[in-house]
Amino acid sequence: MARRRESDRWRIKPRTKLDLSRIDTRSTAGAPGDKQQTKDASAVLRARLAQLQARLYAEGEQSLLLVLQAMDAGGKDGTVRSVFAGVNPQGVRVVSFKAPSQEELAHDFLWRIHAQAPHHGEIAVFNRSHYEDVLVVRVHSLVPEEIWRPRYQRIRAFEDLLTVANTKIVKVMLHISKEEQRERLQERVDDPVKRWKFNAGDLEERRYWDDYQAAFTEAIARTTTHACPWYVVPGDRNWYRDWAVLTILVDTLERMDPRFPAAAEGVVGTIVE
Ligand code: ATP
Ligand code: MG
Repeated sequence: MARRRESDRWRIKPRTKLDLSRIDTRSTAGAPGDKQQTKDASAVLRARLAQLQARLYAEGEQSLLLVLQAMDAGGKDGTVRSVFAGVNPQGVRVVSFKAPSQEELAHDFLWRIHAQAPHHGEIAVFNRSHYEDVLVVRVHSLVPEEIWRPRYQRIRAFEDLLTVANTKIVKVMLHISKEEQRERLQERVDDPVKRWKFNAGDLEERRYWDDYQAAFTEAIARTTTHACPWYVVPGDRNWYRDWAVLTILVDTLERMDPRFPAAAEGVVGTIVE
């Protein structure tokens, strides 16, 4: 039996009867203390993440893929900024998936995703992902149900393919409340520094809140597996969310246990000139 890890708190086990409305988006369960103490703990985790990333890169035999999904204003950008602040930018690649281009639409839905999969030694972060093809696509019927419904199975098969190629996949939903989204969208209107992020379309999307929650629930329930788990992280408090995602990544990398390669034969001695 693998030992219990802190990150198990947010992990959605296969065959769980998932009810997102019962997960408290303001929860701080398990936090190492108050806001400041939790931020201090995150600083320690950031340093640990940097060490593990350096080993992953040096080893060059396995890769890590973090999939981030959330409602609009759910905190994906802030999470990337905070969680990866301490790692060597050379080893991490962030990919944002927007509405597909004409060329992308002329291929299967995984074509553009597969092209961005991390190579060995690398950490890739997907800011939105192939899950949009069972979220926004389902909510707005962009393709008929006969097309999107079989995608759960296709996503599982795709993720299995990457897993077999030594890519560890972890998927995180940053879970905010509808009220928190309202406040954050309002801030985007009010704060000149955040205004560039405001998108009138987000207000339109907000009307589909319940449909999105249903789509998230089914997507997570159908694609969380032992090898490629989903985590639902309470997202209303940024400092708790950052600590949780750092905890998940550090736990995952510790389990992957990347090692610095042993010195090649003959690589000993003193360099004299
Ligand atoms: P923020 O949450 O900070 O606003 P963002 O990720 O929403 O950032 P945007 O450029 O505002 O960035 O939105 C990207 C848009 O692309 C989203 O509305 C998303 O639903 C859409 N999108 C992504 N993938 C797909 C897809 N496969 N099909 C249709 N739409 C997609
Ligand atoms: Mg947006």
